[in-house]
Amino acid sequence: MTAEPPPPDAAAGFAALGLRPELIRAVTELGYEEPTSIQREAIPILLSGRDLLGLAATGTGKTAAFALPLLQGLRDAPSSPLPAALVLVPTRELAIQVAEAVHRYGRDLGVSVLPIYGGSSMGQQLRALRRGVDVVVATPGRALDHLGRGTLRLDEVRLAVLDEADEMLDMGFAEDLDALLSATPPQRQMALFSATFPRRLRDIADRALRDPVRIEVGREQAAPGEMPRIRQLVFVVRRHDKRAALCRVLDMEAPQTALVFCRTRLDVEDLTEALGSRGYAAEALHGGLTQSHRDRAMQRLRAGTADVIVATDVAARGIDIQHLTHVVNYDAPAAPEQYTHRIGRTGRAGREGTAITFLEPRERRLAHRIEQLTGQPIESAQVPSAAALRARRLDVLREQVRGAASAEGLEPFRAICDSLSEDLPPLDIAAAALKALHAASWNDDLEEIPSYALTPPPRAARRDESRAPHGRASRGAREGGGTDAGAGRGGDRADARDGEWTRLFIGLGRRARLRAGDLLGAILNETNLSRDVVGRIEIAFNVSFVEVRADVAEQVIAALRSTNLRGHRVNVRLDRGQR
Ligand code: AMP
Repeated sequence: MTAEPPPPDAAAGFAALGLRPELIRAVTELGYEEPTSIQREAIPILLSGRDLLGLAATGTGKTAAFALPLLQGLRDAPSSPLPAALVLVPTRELAIQVAEAVHRYGRDLGVSVLPIYGGSSMGQQLRALRRGVDVVVATPGRALDHLGRGTLRLDEVRLAVLDEADEMLDMGFAEDLDALLSATPPQRQMALFSATFPRRLRDIADRALRDPVRIEVGREQAAPGEMPRIRQLVFVVRRHDKRAALCRVLDMEAPQTALVFCRTRLDVEDLTEALGSRGYAAEALHGGLTQSHRDRAMQRLRAGTADVIVATDVAARGIDIQHLTHVVNYDAPAAPEQYTHRIGRTGRAGREGTAITFLEPRERRLAHRIEQLTGQPIESAQVPSAAALRARRLDVLREQVRGAASAEGLEPFRAICDSLSEDLPPLDIAAAALKALHAASWNDDLEEIPSYALTPPPRAARRDESRAPHGRASRGAREGGGTDAGAGRGGDRADARDGEWTRLFIGLGRRARLRAGDLLGAILNETNLSRDVVGRIEIAFNVSFVEVRADVAEQVIAALRSTNLRGHRVNVRLDRGQR
């Protein structure tokens, strides 16, 4: 191979979409090398003023797909103290994340953003709203609260966005969404993003969108024969465990050559450095590096002095690496087709290849879409346990010793063994030497890294329950006096892998108009927990029960005790018999 072709100019791809220079600068400084497919499609539509229905899940880059045109629209229009853009999201976590993204992208435009969600100080939100903000990113419950008090006015909203709309419906926010949207001017522009498009969402979309352009990420099917036969593994881990999980998986898999994909230039730099400091021979490859740097990295990989290349999609596109044994999606691909492009780099010419994908719990749905696209199963794998890793390291040690024994240069060490053997048995000398070598090369202080199931089962259960009064749980609760003891949580078997569960008693029920969505929303908004820790919710007439993962039960109890549910302070405790 000769010199690699230079990757395309990162700014040009965004400029072609019609974005302002300030926004292009912001995304290129964040290390984005090209627009994702949803961005390529959605940005020109939103800039043209049309309504949009986008079927896209988390991880596709959908936040920038609406945030960049939103910011451009604000810049191009006269300013007012009332919000000009409203983004509604299902959880507090997402409200913060989206508000931060809007802030980052709009840094040079002087746009003010306020996240509004239950659990954060009302006073602070009131002060900010009084001062005037351009963009409000809110969970529906808290936004409605402010609307009712007259502290949030939506009369001047020019763009409304529903993000993860299906999630908001699952959480029982349908009426709140209707109320909020009807407080915005009828001529406002609107974008609705959702990973799925159930019937109930269709009704809302019909009411709220005017002649929308519909776009969908990743519906194409791979051509038959296009997909190489590759072992495909997915690890579902929390974001902050990803780096440690990658190292463990690399240790276990011992790839001869691996290509690890990150989303941005900055992520490539960070991860390469982190792998280097953990003893991997890793090289970075992204569009911001000089041609000679990229050539050098490739030469090292071919010569076997590097075993891992960490790259962005753009930089990896022009390169040809033979004998790639592993492709690792450290950051999930932004679309299923990108997945097939990435993993098609291993398993070439009849060789065996392995594709490893790390997904954060929020991104799990991508796995199913990839399965649909490729028509091949993806195996859900557990991050190697500390015990498995230790055993593997001992294997490596054994091989190291075997190799060293057959190599030259043992004389000085034999002399040491000779002198030690005067008072120690030979086996003890060898074991002690191995122990010292092992301690010098590995930190044995390993904590377990939790892996999550690929299917988040409580979601389906919640969908049933939030459909009250027809849902299975509410019916069971009514008929069985509220305890519904015989009915297990939906998807028990898959859940069991995620840990032990416990049941909480809540001293409020249907009589106070409590809905499953209120409880779920309160738990997620008042804690930083993910949806996976909440199981079956039962709403009876006077009381309710929620299953939660045992390890977070105390946190959930404390959070629910310190908040209002339907305007009530509520008695929350472990259900009797579980204490
Ligand atoms: P989202 O689907 O909006 O949650 O975005 C997922 C991740 O992709 C976020 O960490 C974004 O910063 C990142 N991202 C969004 N657009 C791009 C892009 N064009 N290139 C690289 N990373 C991106």
